[in-house]
Amino acid sequence: MKLTEISTIKALCSQFGFDFKKKFGQNFIISADIPEKIAKNASGICVIEIGPGFGTLTDELCRVAEKVVSLEIDTSLIPVLEATVGKYENLKILFKDVMKINISELCREEFGDKEIAVCANLPYYITTPVLFHLLESEVKFKNITVMVQKEVAERLCADAGTSEYGAITLTCQRYGKVKKLFDVPKYCFYPSPKVDSSVITIIPEEKEDIYVKNEELLKKIIRAAFNHRRKTLVNALSAEFGQKTKKELEKIIVLNGFREDIRGEKLSLADFAKIANSL
Ligand code: SAM
Repeated sequence: MKLTEISTIKALCSQFGFDFKKKFGQNFIISADIPEKIAKNASGICVIEIGPGFGTLTDELCRVAEKVVSLEIDTSLIPVLEATVGKYENLKILFKDVMKINISELCREEFGDKEIAVCANLPYYITTPVLFHLLESEVKFKNITVMVQKEVAERLCADAGTSEYGAITLTCQRYGKVKKLFDVPKYCFYPSPKVDSSVITIIPEEKEDIYVKNEELLKKIIRAAFNHRRKTLVNALSAEFGQKTKKELEKIIVLNGFREDIRGEKLSLADFAKIANSL
């Protein structure tokens, strides 16, 4: 069964009475080489897959990885996945919403202290929340290799001061190094989405040059700065940190070498770390 062929997909739809659900971002891969290119990042190790769909990437992951745990929200896919990838003994599918799963607990229970990757063709409607969920889980994945919309890939790799730069850029940078692997045009999916995609990989990296006293505070400051993107950093922070006066916040910003009217979007991760440490 060639899962990347439209005829196979249509046959499975009619056999199981399956309808594509836009609300779950169901655009399945129909380009034969993409699953292999993503799955090689999980070769010989354990892997979490988010959103197996009909099992196109799952199939490839099961061939190369030691153990695969796939999380799928759509229970109408149970019989389809049983037919397409049910034969694999190294596969466990949990029919759950990834956003409701405690990722570090799942990793501990399913994989112990083994090396783990994340591989997925992420549903478009929750790409950024899923990335935050994974990066903030504090699991040190070997890599997170995912298909995302091209514009999200650009945001992840953006430089400070650009319009693409945001909280997700800095959260990725704090976790590790982001690399774009390749672009995927919209016609490589069925049904075809409106936008092109890219496959990116995030590899954890210790940033010894960036000292952070309190990671939670750093996250809070980054979120505050970009929740109020058009505001100066002082105003954005004072909206979230009511216990400090504007004058006190201004003093912290200036003492760290920035203008009092600087906006968060101009600051690098190291700059945010300095401000968090002073706060
Ligand atoms: N992996 C398949 C492929 O590449 O052909 C399908 C990818 S499709 C872009 C996204 C998949 O994620 C769908 O199967 C969808 O039902 C599933 N999904 C959507 N939201 C989800 C969520 N919150 N938790 C888990 N799976 C989700």
